[in-house]
Amino acid sequence: MVKKITCIICPNGCSLSASVDENGRIGKINGAGCIRGEAYFKQELTDPRRTIATSVPVEGGELPLCSVRVTCAIPKAAIPEAIGVIRKIRLTAPVEAGTVLVHGLLGYESDVITTKNIARSETK
Ligand code: SF4
Repeated sequence: MVKKITCIICPNGCSLSASVDENGRIGKINGAGCIRGEAYFKQELTDPRRTIATSVPVEGGELPLCSVRVTCAIPKAAIPEAIGVIRKIRLTAPVEAGTVLVHGLLGYESDVITTKNIARSETK
């Protein structure tokens, strides 16, 4: 069977394809503009991973939400559970960008960090 995947590592979006036999062995990978595409293709077939970027509520801040992201991609199958963990986070201003909110999300080598500074609201 020929498997086709669009590489999402960079904006070029190369169309990758390769034959994959019944034992999961991958043939020559075609269409990759660079070596990273070949690694991506193999990972997508064996252990697909994704990053998460979202936002969490902030109490008493000049903005109501703070953007957060994971520091490394985690297995695609774990994304719903990871989002469930992130949805429980509540912050109180001030918030500093780069603050680690969760160490080792779900036991993976990925933390959840803030990506925005949020000052306290001036109004009470
Ligand atoms: S194969 Fe290389 S050049 Fe093509 S999209 Fe992936 S990272 Fe970019």
